[in-house]
Amino acid sequence: MASLFGHTAAALTVGKLSPYSSKRKLFWLLLCLVSVLPDFDVVAFVFHIPYSSQWGHRGFTHSYLFALVVALLVTTLAFRQIRLFSKDWFVVLASFFAAGASHPQLDALTNGGLGVALYWPFDLGRYFHHYRPIEVSPIGITQFFSAWGLEVLQSEFVFILLPCLFLLSIQYLCKKTLSR
Ligand SMILES: [Zn+2]
Repeated sequence: MASLFGHTAAALTVGKLSPYSSKRKLFWLLLCLVSVLPDFDVVAFVFHIPYSSQWGHRGFTHSYLFALVVALLVTTLAFRQIRLFSKDWFVVLASFFAAGASHPQLDALTNGGLGVALYWPFDLGRYFHHYRPIEVSPIGITQFFSAWGLEVLQSEFVFILLPCLFLLSIQYLCKKTLSR
């Protein structure tokens, strides 16, 4: 996994880039939650489900289908004021899908563990990107407060936070240019 910080940084960037016009606290909160939700699958270790199983860590919860189902549920249940299938509905759906799908994308950039089951249930393969510069985050919280945790934060600063800031700067410059 990338760390909680890396995933929420990506989710907040998705939120900033989203053209949805009434972003309230709930929108931001749910975006962050959706971006870390796939890692609740670590509970599989408690039940002795193997890491490599489709029901294990980085299995079905790290797929595009899971991100889509969660985005559909969140958009339909938490944004009931938005008319179904309206432009805003699709924008909110796309925002939550992007936040959810950013999770396995970041995990696929890490240098440890097994790959992510991106195409579950159609393909049970575990995938990584070719370039994997992000230091994999420890699974246990106590291990995070160590030299390893610091290394994770450093690599996420360079390979997650800086690219996020770069995208936000482009958005800012585009908005500024268009408003002239
Ligand atoms: Zn993960």
